[in-house]
Amino acid sequence: MRRYVFSGNINVIRKLSYDVVIVGCGVAALYAALSLDEHLTCALINKEGREESNSIYAQGGIAAVIQNTDNTQHHFQDTLFSGAGLCNEEAVRVLVQEGPSDIEKLIHLRVPFDVDAQGNVQVTREGAHSHNRILHCGGDATGYHLTRTLMDAVSSRKNIAVYDYECLSDVCTDGNGRVNGIITIDTDGIFTFFASANVIIASGGIGRIYRKSTNAYTQTGDGIAAAMRAGAKVENMEFVQFHPTALIHPDKNGRYFLISEALRGEGAVLRNRRWERFMCNAHPMADLAPRDIVTRAIIWEMKNHDLPNVYLDITCKSRSFLENRFPTIYHECLRRDIDIAVDWIPVVPVQHYFMGGIATDLHGQTNIDGLYACGEAANTGVHGANRLASNSLLECLVFGRRCAEHINGSCPSVPAVPCIQPYKDAEAAVDLGTIRSQIRYTMTQKGGIIRNKTNLTEAIATIGAYHDTLQSLPMWSDMRIIMLNMATVSLAVLQAALRREKSVGAHYRSDETKEGTEKK
Ligand SMILES: Cc1cc2nc3c(=O)[nH]c(=O)nc-3n(C[C@H](O)[C@H](O)[C@H](O)COP(=O)(O)OP(=O)(O)OC[C@H]3O[C@@H](n4cnc5c(N)ncnc54)[C@H](O)[C@@H]3O)c2cc1C
Repeated sequence: MRRYVFSGNINVIRKLSYDVVIVGCGVAALYAALSLDEHLTCALINKEGREESNSIYAQGGIAAVIQNTDNTQHHFQDTLFSGAGLCNEEAVRVLVQEGPSDIEKLIHLRVPFDVDAQGNVQVTREGAHSHNRILHCGGDATGYHLTRTLMDAVSSRKNIAVYDYECLSDVCTDGNGRVNGIITIDTDGIFTFFASANVIIASGGIGRIYRKSTNAYTQTGDGIAAAMRAGAKVENMEFVQFHPTALIHPDKNGRYFLISEALRGEGAVLRNRRWERFMCNAHPMADLAPRDIVTRAIIWEMKNHDLPNVYLDITCKSRSFLENRFPTIYHECLRRDIDIAVDWIPVVPVQHYFMGGIATDLHGQTNIDGLYACGEAANTGVHGANRLASNSLLECLVFGRRCAEHINGSCPSVPAVPCIQPYKDAEAAVDLGTIRSQIRYTMTQKGGIIRNKTNLTEAIATIGAYHDTLQSLPMWSDMRIIMLNMATVSLAVLQAALRREKSVGAHYRSDETKEGTEKK
């Protein structure tokens, strides 16, 4: 694999120095920055401005135990159950036990959680949670309010600088393999070296390597790919979560609008065209079964009855309830001529969340000295083979803070300039738009919800060829780098999916036998 995409002279590009550099401006990055000691200087980098991230789009809420009818042992068990035996129990314990105090900090920061008439924070229920423990803001606009509040707090910190429209190209290391900064490229193709002894990758997930995703268009796995080029270990790359219920039509950026699980938590049910509730036969928890089970039940229902979609029915609730509890979903559907108080919502499963990522320990440390990861880009071990709904924002908070606390306790030294060997790249005629569509099409058809050996092998060959072409090109634009990143993480997903022959959690192999070996 090509080590650096930057192949110029590092000494002649703009150089900035910070104690800590954080790639991302979502909840993981913002909360990590706010948890740093204020004497440490920090740069926050984002690719497409502050208003585009998965965090902004989060709807349902944050899972945390804040009521005494619930306890952290229940949250622990629910998380392990969703993770299908592959969670790191120590990481889950940290998540559920430390999460409530991070919620307290959010309340101090004035995150506007919804409250009941007595002023108590409201909690609701989502799929596979045994208790009501999902805190939310603005009904179903949790991510928007949370991100805005954290961004306001960051703006008031003198030690933190935000750099918009700077796309990460490389994670840099010195002669001893220690991190010493990152290189970014802006929209005009100008490179900058951010020298730093501490780099946190909080660049989010990989959703947009698939054709249909709820993710922001920034989510192409860049941080994960750059960390891989620097030698960081990745884990659980085969575990991609598909959300069962997204509106059938994408927006102008190709993003599929999510119909939150919280609707099912409030009584919505899935129906086929014959009005039947097909989830009752599919799982004892019916419509509130884990996401992978609901997703596959929908796919089978669509396939068996030749349907383009199924329907979500929340007509049991009054218009005023829906308007107040789910204002974002209510108005977005109405804008598309669907009145959810009387109409069923046409939905399909789409890519939604990435459980795998850069392998970290409980402090967010990777195998590279000075390199940390948190949020959706990281694999802390809390999600295992499948994420429990609304645990991801909690993970961003708990492990974002833990990265910062670890850095606060360390003594950053002045980093050396990275040693970059020139790469012999060669210009070739490529159509980046076609390559992007082909990667997305291949991932959706062959590396998506239902997988088998033949399809995965074919997909590896197709995307492997694009990867080889892309990495031989001169990298003079962010688009080229992003395309290479998409090919890199797609290949890693496919190869991990091929290696894991047995179905587990969100990874489903249609060709497994009971013993977990391949059918001939
Ligand atoms: C529609 C939707 C609804 C969701 N609802 C919920 C929910 O209710 N509860 C829950 O717990 N989770 C939910 N999730 C998941 C959750 O929102 C995400 O997992 C979480 O917000 C990820 O946060 P993050 O900080 O890791 O990354 P993000 O919020 O995705 O932020 C990534 C940041 O990295 C930056 N970036 C990316 N690449 C580069 C690059 N090359 N250079 C520079 N910067 C880069 C981006 O610009 C962005 O600022 C939802 C997700 C979606 C998409």
